[in-house]
Amino acid sequence: MPVVRSDLVLNILGGGPAGLAAAYYAGKRRLAFRVYEAGEEVGGNCRTLRWGDFLFDTGAHRFHDRDPEVTAEMRLLLGDDLLEVHSPSQIRWNGTFIDFPLSPFDLLRKLDWPSAARIAGEVFRARVRGTSTPASFRDRAVAAYGETLAQTFLLNYSEKLWGEDPSRLSPEVAGKRLRGLDLGTLLIEALGGKQRKNAHLDGAFLYPRYGIGTIFDRVAEAVGPENIACGSRVTRLVHERGRIRRILVNGNLEIDGATVISTLPLTVALRQLDPPAPAELLEVANSMRFRHLVLGVFLLDRPRLSANASIYFPGEQPYTRIYESKNRSAQMAPARQTAVVLEIPCYADDAHWSMGEERLQLELRDSLVREGLVRDEEILGFRSVRVPFAYPVLEVGFEEKARLVADYLRSFQNLHLLGRSAQFQYSHIHDIFGQARSTVREIAGSQPGRLLPTA
Ligand SMILES: Cc1cc2nc3c(=O)[nH]c(=O)nc-3n(C[C@H](O)[C@H](O)[C@H](O)COP(=O)(O)OP(=O)(O)OC[C@H]3O[C@@H](n4cnc5c(N)ncnc54)[C@H](O)[C@@H]3O)c2cc1C
Repeated sequence: MPVVRSDLVLNILGGGPAGLAAAYYAGKRRLAFRVYEAGEEVGGNCRTLRWGDFLFDTGAHRFHDRDPEVTAEMRLLLGDDLLEVHSPSQIRWNGTFIDFPLSPFDLLRKLDWPSAARIAGEVFRARVRGTSTPASFRDRAVAAYGETLAQTFLLNYSEKLWGEDPSRLSPEVAGKRLRGLDLGTLLIEALGGKQRKNAHLDGAFLYPRYGIGTIFDRVAEAVGPENIACGSRVTRLVHERGRIRRILVNGNLEIDGATVISTLPLTVALRQLDPPAPAELLEVANSMRFRHLVLGVFLLDRPRLSANASIYFPGEQPYTRIYESKNRSAQMAPARQTAVVLEIPCYADDAHWSMGEERLQLELRDSLVREGLVRDEEILGFRSVRVPFAYPVLEVGFEEKARLVADYLRSFQNLHLLGRSAQFQYSHIHDIFGQARSTVREIAGSQPGRLLPTA
């Protein structure tokens, strides 16, 4: 078995956004590091794929301008290629489009009066009752929107997205989405009309000209491709006396533990420990689930499907969301044609995860045609893409399970956890860059002597 005795300060496991963000900040601090990525390319669940003249991302991604320091890094990396995009999103419901996030005036226009009156009454009562601490996502949605609206637009959708009854999902899955239909918004809209709407209803966001994956391509260039080992699957984390001593890659290459940043899914990292983790912790890990995504990509012989950044589908359709890449950047498709990406959430044992290309295309095509969104003769091509570990499933009580597993892994003195699946939290690119910055700062503080030679 070959043994690589390295002087590396940092072994970064996984070359998705978290692994690359860690490499980026390690490079800035001139720390020596190496990234081990199982796949043939970096970017994880945040890649942009090319198909002929079309570009599309592995799911509907945008960059959120929430951390000024991280946004400044993005501007540094992308320069003029970081676009400010204005593209709204909508919900497809009963053959019509409804603004998302929900907007009271739009709803009043689109719903029949009896339903609108019932909803208004429910929302008013819900808001007057105030918010006691909700026990589940269902409680939180009903408390914010009232029963009818929550059921129509949120609970059905969430059940499809997470594959779980919303009363078993944590209130945390709502993220920052359950804003926008409170009394404040109602008053703002009533007094100031559409122009006074909350900024997030306007659909403004940042996005790289050639797709979200450009961020990570640029990071990979900046940190040096020679520091990234693709095709390197971490298979075992060998520990002794409270430290990770060796890492096995592809089952045979052995790397000195040094300092480790793991961005591997939390439960995967736990199962790789050698000697194994305590049985009760492995049992906890077995009850924690990740939702995967199948993407169905259609190339269409028409200039656009819609003007939306994303369209959400709370109904019977197998997909939860359609995203049209050229509505984020014109460079993503030829002027007269477009690519749309349908997101189908599933578990690995669901039929869609292993469904053959032809059957999947038929099912999705039939649904699009039935919805009146696409005509058969417009379809130029279809392919599917698998996105594993897309979302940690935040069931009620997930915090305690995630804490138990993460605390155990963090008890190894040289092991740090970073990223969405590694921390079992619903984090985004800007969160991950912010966390990578602090993690690397902490590591650099503890190992000041080991620097790369100055260029
Ligand atoms: C559909 C969708 C839409 C999203 N939209 C947005 C958005 O609009 N804005 C936003 O900011 N964020 C968005 N996100 C979130 C963002 O994509 C994730 O936060 C991000 O991908 C997480 O990065 P990560 O590195 O933690 O994990 P991942 O992207 O999962 O990367 C993990 C990497 O580790 C590698 N790996 C796994 N096991 C091993 C192993 N044993 N050995 C070596 N390598 C391994 C994988 O191949 C992968 O490359 C979205 C996510 C999804 C799924």
